[in-house]
Amino acid sequence: MSKTFFPGGIHLKDNKECTRDLPIELFKDPEVAVILMSQHLGKPAKPIVQAGDKVKIGQLIGEAQGDFSSNIHASISGEVIKVTPASHPVSIEDMAVTIQNDHQSEWYQVLNTKKENVLFSREELLEIIKKNGIVGMGGATFPTHIKLNPKNPVDTLIINGAECEPFLTCDFRLMMEQSDALLNGIKVILKILPVKQVIIGIEENKKEAIKQLKSLIEKTDFSAQVRVETLKEKYPQGAEKNLIFALTKRTVQIGKLPFDIGVVVQNVATVIAIFEAVYFKKPLIDRVLTVTGYGIKEPKNLRVKIGTPVQELITFCQGNTENPGKVIFGGPMMGIAIRSLETPIMKGTSGVLVLNGNIPYQENQCIRCGKCVENCPAGLMPVKITESAKIGEYVQYEKLFVSSCIECGVCSYNCPAAIPLLNYIRLAKAELMKRRNQK
Ligand code: SF4
Ligand code: SF4
Repeated sequence: MSKTFFPGGIHLKDNKECTRDLPIELFKDPEVAVILMSQHLGKPAKPIVQAGDKVKIGQLIGEAQGDFSSNIHASISGEVIKVTPASHPVSIEDMAVTIQNDHQSEWYQVLNTKKENVLFSREELLEIIKKNGIVGMGGATFPTHIKLNPKNPVDTLIINGAECEPFLTCDFRLMMEQSDALLNGIKVILKILPVKQVIIGIEENKKEAIKQLKSLIEKTDFSAQVRVETLKEKYPQGAEKNLIFALTKRTVQIGKLPFDIGVVVQNVATVIAIFEAVYFKKPLIDRVLTVTGYGIKEPKNLRVKIGTPVQELITFCQGNTENPGKVIFGGPMMGIAIRSLETPIMKGTSGVLVLNGNIPYQENQCIRCGKCVENCPAGLMPVKITESAKIGEYVQYEKLFVSSCIECGVCSYNCPAAIPLLNYIRLAKAELMKRRNQK
C-alpha cells in the first residue's frame, strides 16, 4: 500500500483507542440551546428573533451579513428566552439566541424523507448550501458556498479524512457509518465543481474506513474519477496545505489559497452536511463530535445539537475523573481551551477534550535550539514571532508572515523550554487582523 505524506511535522501518539470503536450515539436535545451568531469565518449573523418568540427546529434565527458570513438556524423547538452575549471559545463573549426547549421537536419545514435525484442547477445547489448555513466543519468554519465557488479554475477536489489530531475520532466514525451520505455529497459537489479528480485522503490508522470506502467507490458510476489515498500518520497531515502537497505534490505558496493551484478541500463532515442540505433540506443544526480525554469517565462519539452547553455532554459521559484539567474545544494540538462549561457547541466543534489535571507546566527561557523553526510545516519562525508578540512589535508581524500560521501547535509541542508559542502567535494574528480591519 503506497503512503503519501508532507515534509516537516511530527509523529504523535494518536490516543484514539478511547473512542475509535464506539458508534455515534444520538445526544438528547438540550433543555436550553445557546446558539451563537458567530460560528463561522466572516461577519457574525444578525439575530432576527427576540425574547418571547416561538421557534421551530430549522427556523432561521440569525441572518448572514453579506456574502462572507453564514445563516444560523434553531436547533431545537421552543421559546426564545433571551438574545444576549454568551460564552464564546474565541472571543470570550458573543451575541447568542437562547431557546428554552418545549419538547415538541417540531420542524419549521417538512424534511424530505426519501433521497431524490439531484436535479438542481449549479447555482441552485450553491444557494441551498448558503441558505442552510453550511460551513467547514473541520474547524476552519469557512462558508462553504464561497469555497465551492472559487475564482480560479479547479481540477482537483480533496476530501479531508485525515483526522490527524490525537484523540478525535468523529470523522472516522462518519466515514464508517455514513459512507453513502459522504459519496452522495461528493456527487453534489461534482455538479457544482466538475473537477477531473476527487481524492479522499485518509491516514493509515483508519484502515477500516480506507477499505470500506474503496470497496463502495468501486460500485459507483464515478469510480474512474474518485479514489482513496492512504496517508502516512503524521501531524498536521490534515492541515489543508500539507494535505494538498501530500496528495498532489502541489505547493500553496505563502499568502495564496488552494484554489490558486486548482484545488478545493472539504472535510468529510462538511460533505455529509452538504448531502443532508441538498437531499433533505436540512440546515446545519447538529454535528458529530468526540467527547474524550483522560479527564472524562466514559468517552463517546455523539451527534449533538448546535447550542448544547458543554457541561451537559460531560454529565452524559458520566462526568469527570478524579483530577480533571482544562477543557478544550477540538484536539490537544489545534484546540482552544474554554473558560466556562456553559460554552455551547458550535458548527466547528469537532471534539470536547478534557485533560488530566496532573500535567505540570512552567515556561522557561528560550535555549535557541531551533526546533520550532525546523518543524514548522508552514515554514515560519515561531520563536521570532513570539519574541515580537511579547513586546508588541506588530510592525514585524507582516514581515514574519504571521497570517500563514495554520495554528497546528507543533512549535509549542516541541519546545523544550515549554514556551506556549502558539498562544503568542494567536495574539499576534488577532492584533494584525484588528489593525487591518481599522484601515
Ligand atoms: S508557527 Fe503556526 S504553523 Fe508553525 S508550527 Fe507553530 S502553530 Fe504550527
Ligand atoms: S523550540 Fe523553544 S527553545 Fe527552541 S528555539 Fe524555539 S522557542 Fe526557543
